[in-house]
Formats: sequence, C-alpha cells, structure tokens
Amino acid sequence: MANTGLSKSLILKGLQCQKALWLTKNPPDFELPPKPDLEALFRTGTEVGILAQQLFPGGVEVPYEGLSFGEQLTRTKQLIDSGAEVIYEASFSFSAIFVKVDILVRDGDAWQIHEVKMGTSVKDVNLDDVAVQHYVLNGCGLSVSKSFLVHINNQYVRQGDIEVDKLFTGEEITPQVLARLQSMPEVVQELRSTLRESAEPSIDIGPHCKDPYECDFIPYCWRHIPEDSIFDLRGRGTDKFKLYNQGIVRLADVPLDELNGAQRFQAEATLEQKDVTDREAVREFLGSLWYPLCHLDFETFDTPIPPFDGVRPYQKVPFQYSLHIQKEVGAEPEHCEYLAQPNVDPRRELIEQLLTTIPEDACILTYNQAFEKGVLRELAKLFPDLAEAIEVRLANVRDLMAPFKRRDVYRWPMRGSYSIKEVLPALVPELSYTGMEIADGMAAMQAYREMCALEAGEKLDRLRAAMLDYCRLDTLAMVKILKVLVATEGFSSC
Ligand code: SF4
Repeated sequence: MANTGLSKSLILKGLQCQKALWLTKNPPDFELPPKPDLEALFRTGTEVGILAQQLFPGGVEVPYEGLSFGEQLTRTKQLIDSGAEVIYEASFSFSAIFVKVDILVRDGDAWQIHEVKMGTSVKDVNLDDVAVQHYVLNGCGLSVSKSFLVHINNQYVRQGDIEVDKLFTGEEITPQVLARLQSMPEVVQELRSTLRESAEPSIDIGPHCKDPYECDFIPYCWRHIPEDSIFDLRGRGTDKFKLYNQGIVRLADVPLDELNGAQRFQAEATLEQKDVTDREAVREFLGSLWYPLCHLDFETFDTPIPPFDGVRPYQKVPFQYSLHIQKEVGAEPEHCEYLAQPNVDPRRELIEQLLTTIPEDACILTYNQAFEKGVLRELAKLFPDLAEAIEVRLANVRDLMAPFKRRDVYRWPMRGSYSIKEVLPALVPELSYTGMEIADGMAAMQAYREMCALEAGEKLDRLRAAMLDYCRLDTLAMVKILKVLVATEGFSSC
C-alpha cells in the first residue's frame, strides 16, 4: 500500500514539484551524490529560533528531542488546557500531518502563529509554510487570529547586548496566509493522490527545479542533458527553458542569433574551441599596475546574529587574509597571512597588521575588487583613526578579474565564466583547488565557525592549517594568472 503520510516539509516539497515528493517516498534506483552538510546551517537556525523566543518571554517549550511525536502532542494539549499564554514549538497533528509552531501566542479565544525565519524578508514559500500550520491548527479545533513571519532586520546594528526587538521584524502575513488556506484541502488531497500512483509522475525539468530550493533529484531528472548544453550558457539572456521546450538542448543546435552578445561569444568559443587574447587590452591592463604589487584576498563570515558591536546581520566580517607581495615584475613573491583566533573580534588586529604589511605606495591586486573594497570600506568606517590609511590603500586597488570579465582573455574551457575557479585551471592547469580540504569561500566560512566551536588541540590545528592553505592558494593563483598575462603581452609595459 502506498505511503501517503505527509509532513509540512513534504507538502512544501510537493508544492515545488510533485515528482520530487513522489521520488522522496519512492527513491529511484540511481546513485545521488551525498547531500551537503547542513548541520552548521541548522545550528544557526536553532540559535535564531531560541533568540526569537525572547520576543514573547515566559513561554513553555515542547521539545523535539527526547519526546515522541505523541508525547509532543500530549504535552501541547496539556499546556493549552492549563491556560498557557505562550508555547514554543507547540505540536499538532491533523489528517496525519504533523507540524510544530515556532511561537504560539494566546489571543483571547484564538491563537497567533509566529513563524521564525533566518531570512530578511517574507518569501512565498514562507506563506505556504504558515498556511500548512494554520490548516493543521484549524483541523485540531484551534482558531488562528493572526499570523506573523518573524524575520531578521538587516538594518539593525549591534551595540552591546543583542536587542531582540530590533534584531527581528514581525511582519503580519494573515491575508496572504488566508488566501492560501482556502486551497489547502485540495492541495493535500492532490499530493496524496500523487503518492498513491505506482508510477513516477511525468513532470519534466523546468525553473521549478531550483525555485524556491535546489531539488535533491537534479542529477537524476537532468541526466538526459548532454555536456555543452544550452544550460551551460552563462548570465541572463535567452530563456533556456523556452529553447528546451522547442527541443533545442545541445549548444550546437542553438540558433546563434537568438543569443545575446555574451552568450553567443560563449557558444561560438565552446563549439569552435576558440581562445581569445586581446594583446592591446592586456597591455593596457598591465600598464595600470605597478610594483610593489600586493595580491590580496580576504575571507569573511556572516551570520544572522551579529557577533560583535558595530556589525549588522549578514554583514561580512573579515577573519583571514592572504597576501603575496612582488617587488618587481616576475619576482618571486613573499607571502604574508593572517588568521584570527577563534571567538574574538578580529577586525582591529587584522587591519592593523594589513596596513603594516602593505606599503602605502603599493599596487593592491584583488580578484573581484568589489568584495575586497567593500571589506576595506567597512573597516574604514569602523576605525576612523585608520580611515585615512585605509583610503590610501583603497585608491590603489586594481582588479585582476577585469580582463577576464571583459573577455580580453578567454579560454574556451572557462565555459563563459570569469570566476577564478574557472580561470585558474584554464590558464594554470598545474595549480588546482581539487582535493583541498577547504576548496571554496563557503567552506572557509564554515571552517571558521567550526574553529570557534573547537577546544585547542589537534583538530583545531589541522583546521587552521587547511584554512591557511586555501587562502594562500587564492593569492598564489593570482600571482600565476598574472604571470600568464605578462607572458602573453611581454614584459615591456609592466
Ligand atoms: S529535479 Fe526538477 S523535475 Fe525532478 S523532481 Fe526535482 S524539481 Fe521535479
């Protein structure tokens, strides 16, 4: 007999794609890659949820850990019957759908739902989420007077202890939830009938595969898409699913005049395996640099709960940098680096060390200058006594990404990208991020968070070493890429 049990998350999955719901209950005979480690994200979500409870103090929690579903339901009922005003994680089940309400607040004879999210605005999927809760509560005989989405206020700046009433914004979403509530019985019925089907639903790929969430079954459902397909085209431009629905999948089959300039360039370069080097433009770029030349890369972290004074939610806080300094063109670089100790505000120490290391008259080369400049500007705002020295460095920043973004230099294996992760293997194949314990900025950010949770010891030392290796490679990659540009153009102009 088909398993037609539903939960809130299964309903949300089914609303995104009924095939995803069916495949979750009937896993395909296909090896899916391991799911990304979301533990750090869940941990942050839990911290945010607990902090938001302070908006409604004095409540009683119905814990998930240590209680069966039945016990959570019984405990909730006892709290309601005994006159509780505020319940955290109240649990309900109706029509075999189990939900937990983040914060349930008594409102006369009815109840208010307060759903807590880590985002900074209300999204459609949040409205669906609360509509499912409202539906189940109604089914359990509870009346819901109002619904709110409690999300992060990204304008808040921490000064001293966290002020929860300023960190969070409670937006009333009652009308939008009521509008969805009407269709909820049919939605549940439709999803159940999908689950009763013995065959996989016939649903083709589409924008829904990544909206609102990236679907776990993409490797399975997209397995018929060949290499060098229309989906490899970068940037906005032609509607790829419109082409797909016309039966055009291979890049080789795309009518080139339907593509915008950048996509057409990419398609032609891929199909003809064509490389481009505009020597004059490279010469001009190299002419804008001077020595000493400091290749700089920051690593930053951001969290919904600002960890230090003067920080907004999700503001990027630098905790690490790598610097390769070349005294003259082609010279062996000297390497300097900084990695914060865990659980201290690293910003003053980091910028002081950086200012000592980068000479005032040095050219500072970054890869994607908007990021490094943004970090430096925030530091200048935070430390007025250092602002002038930081401004001098800011004026000297140049962007190694520029010639690749303009496509002065393009290698067809870059697949339309100018990210350093694509440019490096195309230009400097002997240097690679492959196999590194930390291989991208997101992993570095997670490693920093993990580092803050570790006691001193071997694991912490290993993590620090991996973080230093990764950041060092970022600036070494810039040294090597620049070397290729210099070799392309000749040494004369630099
Ligand atoms: S990959 Fe797309 S079509 Fe396949 S289950 Fe997921 S959302 Fe549905």
